[in-house]
Amino acid sequence: MKHKPVIGIIGGGQLARMFIEEALRYNIDCIIVDADDQCPASSIAYDHIVGSIAEAAPLLKLGAITDVLTYDIEHIYIKPLFELEKQGKLLIPSPHILQIVQDKALQKNFYLDNNIPSAPFQLVSRPEEWKEVIWKKFVAKSRREGYDGRGVQIMTVDDLQNTINIPFEGVAILEEFIECKKEISIIVARNQHGDITCFPPVEMEFDSEANLVTMLLCPASINSELLTKANDLSVKIVEAMKGVGIFAVELFVDINDNIYVNEMAPRPHNSGHHTIEACYTSQYEQLLRILLDLPLGSTELIKPAVMINLLGPKEFSGSYYLHGYNEILKLPGVYVHLYGKATSRPMRKLGHITILGDTLADAKEKAIEVQHQVSIRSMNN
Ligand code: ADP
Repeated sequence: MKHKPVIGIIGGGQLARMFIEEALRYNIDCIIVDADDQCPASSIAYDHIVGSIAEAAPLLKLGAITDVLTYDIEHIYIKPLFELEKQGKLLIPSPHILQIVQDKALQKNFYLDNNIPSAPFQLVSRPEEWKEVIWKKFVAKSRREGYDGRGVQIMTVDDLQNTINIPFEGVAILEEFIECKKEISIIVARNQHGDITCFPPVEMEFDSEANLVTMLLCPASINSELLTKANDLSVKIVEAMKGVGIFAVELFVDINDNIYVNEMAPRPHNSGHHTIEACYTSQYEQLLRILLDLPLGSTELIKPAVMINLLGPKEFSGSYYLHGYNEILKLPGVYVHLYGKATSRPMRKLGHITILGDTLADAKEKAIEVQHQVSIRSMNN
């Protein structure tokens, strides 16, 4: 690279922060846009445009001063992105893909049109329409703005006897509830020339109350037939979208080993944090390579890994610290990541810990120990 490109990132959360950590190894500067002047990426970004990603001006400004743009969140005002693309600016992934992903109805229809298996769904708007739901058990999702399980509710027809139980106003999606044996995620990287790599699949364990991932295991324990099926399906989605960038495909495996796509995120993903230590190339470095048109890296797993999210406890909001370092840092292969968020809120993602092991069982055993030892505590107690 003779010319040193500057990368623009829309959103300055933890994904942007971990991306910038990789970019700095290559001596590449990144400029972010985020309304929060203390967002996680702010302290390591070359520059920070403090402005809303829901408004045109900060996005157009970012486009004007950077060579290539990417994003770490889906909820972006899309119109200025199309404008920048028209001006010849390189945006990875393309705003056309972002537009599909921003709207769960468009995303579901995309799968339908491309013969990609996904849970059957109905679109509803008025409360009376909810009563027409054809499944006993279903999942209600708000059409836009869902994130980390917010905007998703598992329901039964009985809940609909009282309209007060209808969780969202406006247009919503009702999906058949899939009896999952496993939830897995595959991160696909596709570059500007159509070269593709898949990261090894990860298996997610959930906190059913909060509907958030609590432990992530890599590699997922699936047989080779299922692995091929899951990889092929993930690649098919990205190719059908002509996607360039990093794409996290969340998949359900049902009791008969059928695979359904749940949703796709066109960016690095929580289910890929472990790749920083566990794979030859991390999801963040892979995105960097794509943005800079460098060769894709090997996604091979160096060691089995478990990742645990560090979430804000329910009991308090405010300044916090991580308790338990002394015990966990005695264990080999334990990597702490704190995102630099000033305050904790219930269930807020404040950091994560990756644990490597010689076997997955070994990593899991250590991860359970880590979960017992660490806690987010209030500074004020
Ligand atoms: P978000 O976009 O907020 O992450 P998701 O659509 O991924 O929401 O749903 C969150 C979780 O809800 C999923 O990981 C899964 O556990 C459950 N879920 C969503 N849709 C279905 C479905 N059709 N059948 C069974 N479980 C589902």
